[in-house]
Amino acid sequence: MSSSIKVILDKCIGCGLCVRACPFAAVTLVDKKAVINENCTFCGACVDACKKYQAIVITRLTFEAHDLSAYKGIAVFAEHRNGKLASVVPEIIGAGMSLKASLNVPLTAVLVGANVKPIAGELLEYGVDEVWMRDDQAIGDFAEDVQTDVVYRILREKKPEIFLGGGTIMGRSLLPRVASRTRTGLTADCTELEIDPDTRFLKQTRPAFGGNIMATILCQNHRPQMATVRHKVMKAAPKTGNKGGKIVDMNHIPVPEPGYEVLEFVEEKSDTVNIVEADFIVSGGRGVKDPKNFALLQELAREIGAALGASRAAVDSGWIPYSHQVGQTGKTVNPKIYIACGISGAIQHLAGMKSSDIIIAINSDRTAPIFDVAHFGIVGDLFEVVPEIIKRIKG
Ligand SMILES: Cc1cc2nc3c(=O)[nH]c(=O)nc-3n(C[C@H](O)[C@H](O)[C@H](O)COP(=O)(O)OP(=O)(O)OC[C@H]3O[C@@H](n4cnc5c(N)ncnc54)[C@H](O)[C@@H]3O)c2cc1C
Ligand code: SF4
Ligand code: SF4
Repeated sequence: MSSSIKVILDKCIGCGLCVRACPFAAVTLVDKKAVINENCTFCGACVDACKKYQAIVITRLTFEAHDLSAYKGIAVFAEHRNGKLASVVPEIIGAGMSLKASLNVPLTAVLVGANVKPIAGELLEYGVDEVWMRDDQAIGDFAEDVQTDVVYRILREKKPEIFLGGGTIMGRSLLPRVASRTRTGLTADCTELEIDPDTRFLKQTRPAFGGNIMATILCQNHRPQMATVRHKVMKAAPKTGNKGGKIVDMNHIPVPEPGYEVLEFVEEKSDTVNIVEADFIVSGGRGVKDPKNFALLQELAREIGAALGASRAAVDSGWIPYSHQVGQTGKTVNPKIYIACGISGAIQHLAGMKSSDIIIAINSDRTAPIFDVAHFGIVGDLFEVVPEIIKRIKG
């Protein structure tokens, strides 16, 4: 049964409170009666707004009762490509470790692919308790539908209560497929994961409404509780050596035939520096004023061995390609030093860089919000400040 919402016309007095309360523009007044359109997400805000008249009623989707007690432990998806573990995996293991400490349950890596035994050994070095491994030549690096099926079957058999993956291109494709097969929920791009000590539910926190609020999401009725985590947001687990962990062969899990054949993999050629991995970033915003002026930031970046970042305003103006964009709809970076030049510090930009070790802001407006997060701030014209810094570095 799906959720439904209805307006009891006899009770509606056309006050319009529900129209103002609805965050999704899903209510309008027609002939002084509330009418609800297809934008409705059943959030319930209008029902609260109409408490006095009780003219709006939501009938919620009912769930079958699941035996949640059958699910135990935390599992992480061990993404890999070309025989190498994805760099997000130690970060997910790090997140899993702190959840394990709260729940006092085992932490396991789910590893599927061809010739993956060396990767299983590496995972044990990160201190996971087990690796559930399905090693088969037929599981290609890019066969996401095949991997989905195998991962789904492993989860169905092993029943972890939590399953985490990277918010990578692959994780964003595979985990929703697995969630859909498993009939559970998934919270994408979490920035924080913790356990509610009373209920033992996973609290999955992520930015919502354009980054203006942080929403904490619970998956109360289904298992596993699934979440993806963006690269560079969680602290990576160090390699501390195998603490008695073991590899569990899952060779009885069948591997389906893919519906296609991968003939060749052609890697995209790009001469841009990968800002996600960079230790130093010089970033420019609308204050740079002209695409040509990025040459000045490029010069500073060259001097200190930094990558070039940008705000969305600079990218949207066509001054620099999207691959350089830092922020909520760009990349999340975590460099040792982030130098923001002519960037105001909008919340959506901060979402991508505020965990940098040291933030240096150069801005002519002393009230710019970037100074609220900056460790060092220079109030001044970047066209004077940046050349002066370059001059001093060159000695
Ligand atoms: C859903 C959504 C997603 C978004 N995603 C992102 C994202 O991923 N990344 C992102 O960056 N933004 C994102 N934005 C846009 C964001 O809200 C801001 O509009 C954007 O970050 C502003 O860029 P800016 O700081 O370069 O420009 P502005 O806000 O215009 O700031 C320019 C700054 O330059 C300073 N300045 C001007 N001249 C000089 C000078 N000569 N010397 C020194 N300083 C100078 C000004 O004082 C000002 O503070 C998103 C917005 C939405 C709604
Ligand atoms: S708040 Fe209630 S009474 Fe007022 S317009 Fe909406 S449905 Fe009608
Ligand atoms: S339930 Fe939420 S989305 Fe639907 S009409 Fe009411 S306020 Fe709008």
